[in-house]
Amino acid sequence: MKKGKLIVFSAPSGAGKTTIVRHLLGLPELHLEFSISATSRGPRGQETHGKDYHFMPLSEFKQHIRNDDFLEWEEVYADNFYGTLKSEVEKIREQGKNVIFDIDVSGGLRIKRKFPEETLAIFVKPPSVDELKRRLKERSTESEEKIAMRIAKSSAELATAPLFDVIVENQDLDFAKQKAYDLVNDFVNKD
Ligand code: 5GP
Repeated sequence: MKKGKLIVFSAPSGAGKTTIVRHLLGLPELHLEFSISATSRGPRGQETHGKDYHFMPLSEFKQHIRNDDFLEWEEVYADNFYGTLKSEVEKIREQGKNVIFDIDVSGGLRIKRKFPEETLAIFVKPPSVDELKRRLKERSTESEEKIAMRIAKSSAELATAPLFDVIVENQDLDFAKQKAYDLVNDFVNKD
């Protein structure tokens, strides 16, 4: 059986990448499975352990770093660690399924560098920083302070867009979903 491919979606928080990733996961012909990341942050809203994230205490996360269990990891926000476990990705690829990642720009680029031929790295671009602010506030799952932290990070993240294989602008969600579908469909079906 052929090993699955890697599809990375990265973007500033609030750009809409999670919505696009969820949409693609619902399309069986793409044979995608979500890479469930480990994180040291606590669950938010309806999130569940083992589905959205492997939630764990910081001490456990650091033990995984020491054991070299991660393909990549980042302290995305102060004291909030996120990482992709090697075992998670291998498990999916060995079933012949394609792995889809919803991870930050540094992690996304790291995966692309590790597996250049097998990875399609997609950057989801919000229409503007103002729109990003509006979306984060509307989501209202986080405190003002956390929202401000995410916005502060977004300009550095936006600057990395040209390093990705392709940029999908999320001005109109339906259009962005279709564009993402076409890109992923072409990539997983080519040899
Ligand atoms: P959130 O707290 O909103 O779920 O995620 C914050 C940021 O961390 C998002 O950009 C998300 O995509 C990213 N992230 C989630 N999992 C991982 C991971 O395994 N590695 C890296 N580098 N970033 C991640």
